Amino acid sequence: MVKVGKRFVGDRPVSVEAPVHLAVYRARGDVCGVVHSHAPVATAFGIAGIEILPVVIETFPVVPKAVPIVLFEMLGSRKFADAVQTKIKACDAVVLENHGILTVGGSIETACSLNVMVEETAKLQYMATLLAGNKAISMEALKKTCQA
Ligand SMILES: [Zn+2]
Repeated sequence: MVKVGKRFVGDRPVSVEAPVHLAVYRARGDVCGVVHSHAPVATAFGIAGIEILPVVIETFPVVPKAVPIVLFEMLGSRKFADAVQTKIKACDAVVLENHGILTVGGSIETACSLNVMVEETAKLQYMATLLAGNKAISMEALKKTCQA
């Protein structure tokens, strides 16, 4: 068994965000890939405090419910790692308030694809809301579906 957090190669300092990645691996034995990004539209949803919803049927296989928002904590802090660890136990994607998004998967490729899908879903939700407000998305109906 591989020890989580053990350095295998390199001598450069680890990222300040390493503790959150390690917390995810400790919480999810099924996860072999964690991707964190500052995808601009999804990040804007986190700044606004609005959940990203599965607004089109194509997103349901990979974004089957509202992407929860992890409330802001300082980067690199234990509180930040704990907050992400708590939320990621029940889903494969989270929005980090005022920061970015984090996705997980059985491989780095799966986690990366989900990260892109969350950003694309956020773009669609944003554009549809601009065009027709909540009427286009039927937010309440989606939220009920997402909570089911
Ligand atoms: Zn970051």
